[in-house]
Amino acid sequence: MRTESRAITIVGGGLAGALLAILLARRGWSVDVFERRGDPRVEGYAGGRSINLALAERGLHALRQAGADEAVMRQAVMMRGRFVHPLQGTPGLQRYGRDDSEVIWSINRGELNIVLLQIAESHGARLHFDHRLERVDFVDHVAHFRRHDDDVAHPFESLVGADGAGSTLRAEMARVLPLGERTEWLDHGYKELEIPPDAHGGFRIEPNALHIWPRGHYMCIALPNDERTFTVTLFLPHTGPWPSFETVPDADAAQALFERDFPDALPLIPDLRKDYQANPVGNLATLYLDRWHIAGKAVLLGDAAHAMVPFHGQGMNCAFEDCVALAGHLERAPSRSAAFAGFEAQRKPDAEAIQRMALENYIEMRDKVDDAGYLLQRELELALQARHPDRFVPHYAMVSFMRIPYSQALHRSEVQRVILEDATRGLDSLDGVDWAAADAAVLAKLEPLHT
Ligand SMILES: Cc1cc2nc3c(=O)[nH]c(=O)nc-3n(C[C@H](O)[C@H](O)[C@H](O)COP(=O)(O)OP(=O)(O)OC[C@H]3O[C@@H](n4cnc5c(N)ncnc54)[C@H](O)[C@@H]3O)c2cc1C
Repeated sequence: MRTESRAITIVGGGLAGALLAILLARRGWSVDVFERRGDPRVEGYAGGRSINLALAERGLHALRQAGADEAVMRQAVMMRGRFVHPLQGTPGLQRYGRDDSEVIWSINRGELNIVLLQIAESHGARLHFDHRLERVDFVDHVAHFRRHDDDVAHPFESLVGADGAGSTLRAEMARVLPLGERTEWLDHGYKELEIPPDAHGGFRIEPNALHIWPRGHYMCIALPNDERTFTVTLFLPHTGPWPSFETVPDADAAQALFERDFPDALPLIPDLRKDYQANPVGNLATLYLDRWHIAGKAVLLGDAAHAMVPFHGQGMNCAFEDCVALAGHLERAPSRSAAFAGFEAQRKPDAEAIQRMALENYIEMRDKVDDAGYLLQRELELALQARHPDRFVPHYAMVSFMRIPYSQALHRSEVQRVILEDATRGLDSLDGVDWAAADAAVLAKLEPLHT
């Protein structure tokens, strides 16, 4: 029998914090959310990074659980696949899935956050804006927040850290119990630019796609926004030979880089020089922890527990999956302690799997999407899926269109990669594929996938 009350304090009212507040408040929990920023519904959204995000099935499923999907999908833009812009050759769409039932969606971070906060409040969650967590007393169960010049002391039963990659709660927990924290910084960073609408207020390039300009060691991508703009993200090494952020330090250098390497993108970005000069270079990292919780006192989720590089577009999707999982454990487990332990045991292997796949996907996006061998393997993936729909599901589909655990998707992708490499070795078309051998490998190495 549960003897603990159903009260919870969430630190961070970003994407995961707001979603978890809905899931718990709907189930009758007493929820307090403390967010360091002001109320975005009043002050406008002060996001600071990645204006839009790719939403896939895992995140969408979590939004359905929260009753937030309809409001969010009203402003979503469908992305059917990657629209690849090679330096030489014809640009074109590479579909992510088999048809329009297998797509991802571009959504605006600020609008999404506002919708979730609104729904959380409508279910009774108390939202405390302009409250920055500073210190936690885990003995007396009091969290201290800074509100302008005041210290606000908030007694709590349990804290959930949804305060992002730079989590203060994580730092406070680590003062009580080592969490085994390790951050691996990527030696590449990013800068955001914008493609505005055309003279008639329409999209300047194909709207229903994620555009990629792959250039080997670096790349540009662009995601559509519902107001007919695209958010462009340039990924470059921080240092090293041209082009890196070190060697492309200002507007003149950026202009020269785009003239040489992204000539078809250049006319689409009229404010390139101004934006390049004004916008900061963002850092990217993978955060690993040995543990995510302290008994029943505090638990971390989303970026606070397992920040990842953005190249699979899964950070938010994974954080939303965390929220559904934690709400389920809190509902079923006999105690907070058991719930937090069960949550960590379930989700940590999956978070580590998607962190790894996200790192691998950077190389795929910047270097492989315009490579003939890679394209042949993608063609074979679809052919094998048609021959063995219950066993062979392409890597991207397992991650983006299904909800099987990420760890299972990683394992099956590794098995499938070997089958694809073996079957296409030395070939430049599917004509020469030894189908009997490929079928036998699928049957021998891949169990039917139960969804
Ligand atoms: C360039 C880029 C592109 C990305 N693209 C995608 C994508 O396409 N798809 C995808 O799924 N993911 C993407 N991500 C990842 C995604 O942004 C994160 O995984 C997601 O935002 C994590 O949500 P969160 O709620 O855990 O953290 P956050 O969204 O960072 O929210 C944390 C919240 O906590 C608040 N906070 C912080 N400190 C305190 C404190 N001390 N006290 C109180 N409040 C505090 C912050 O103000 C913030 O509101 C991308 C990330 C980047 C950097």
